[in-house]
Amino acid sequence: MFGATTRRLVLCAAFCVGLCVAAVWSAPPASAQRGGPPAQMKTIADDLYFWFDYDGTNSIIWATSEGVMVVDTQPHPAQARRLIGEIRKITDKPIKWAINTQVHGDHFLGNSEFKKEGATIVANAHAKYLMERYWEKDLKRRVPGFEKAGLDPKEVSFVAPDKTFEDELVIEMAGRKVRLFYPGPGQDPGCAYVHFPHAKAVATSGSLTPKSVSNLMYTPSIDGWVKVLRQLQGMDVDVYLPGHGDLGKKSDIDDAVGFLTTLQSEVKAARAKGVPLAEAQKSLTFPAYKDWRNYGRMADYVRNLYVLEETGKPEYWTQGWERK
Ligand SMILES: [Zn+2]
Repeated sequence: MFGATTRRLVLCAAFCVGLCVAAVWSAPPASAQRGGPPAQMKTIADDLYFWFDYDGTNSIIWATSEGVMVVDTQPHPAQARRLIGEIRKITDKPIKWAINTQVHGDHFLGNSEFKKEGATIVANAHAKYLMERYWEKDLKRRVPGFEKAGLDPKEVSFVAPDKTFEDELVIEMAGRKVRLFYPGPGQDPGCAYVHFPHAKAVATSGSLTPKSVSNLMYTPSIDGWVKVLRQLQGMDVDVYLPGHGDLGKKSDIDDAVGFLTTLQSEVKAARAKGVPLAEAQKSLTFPAYKDWRNYGRMADYVRNLYVLEETGKPEYWTQGWERK
């Protein structure tokens, strides 16, 4: 099922520190902007489902006659239990696999509940490396959101992935194969994708969030991220299953690339002219994206790119992001 093309995947690979750290800590998690439709289960194929939670984090359920795979385990154990309840409306088969596509807690802090179900938890090796070093920092910034939603932060524990992969991992159930792959850093180092060939669908984690201005504080390279998006766009798929927001299509990737490259070029131009950060944050408003989700955070993203351009390092990973 997986031909030579898919096997060719390869790894591609402080100024203002005080200000930056303060700004990172003040940034709310992606789930903070509320007001979407109630969470719902969407059917993608005869065995594939998309748990669409606009106000939270999406998950994907591959439900076969042999067992179940869940992609992303929700931000909190209570939300994971809710998802497991939804899965039980679909199937009573064992949950064998739980995939963490990203090092952000909203994609893995529900691991404990899936562990209790007996699932093997899987992530890219670089993602696991960063989870182990940054999960407490990540959790800390989610606590206000948990409290506001009536979720007990003390219930959250870190359960590390049991199994890791570097470039690719194929998992087979009931005669069908899905492929986890890591083509290099996108929104994050370690951000992985899951291809469901039979459903012509791919899970895109945080690297593609349709009609949303993506958080730019984690990526080590906008060019690398764009390369990943173009690779996802070139796949033989009809539907993109994002970590946040509704189902995506190929044109959403053009829009996401446009957003990333526009911000990058405008920031480069401002820096080349010697425009100070504070001034750039006021003048670079990118009104073309005013209707996109999280547009209100644009000033933060301008700062993220100033830091990345100035230091060559993503703003978030204060202890470094490279796997040593
Ligand atoms: Zn997320």
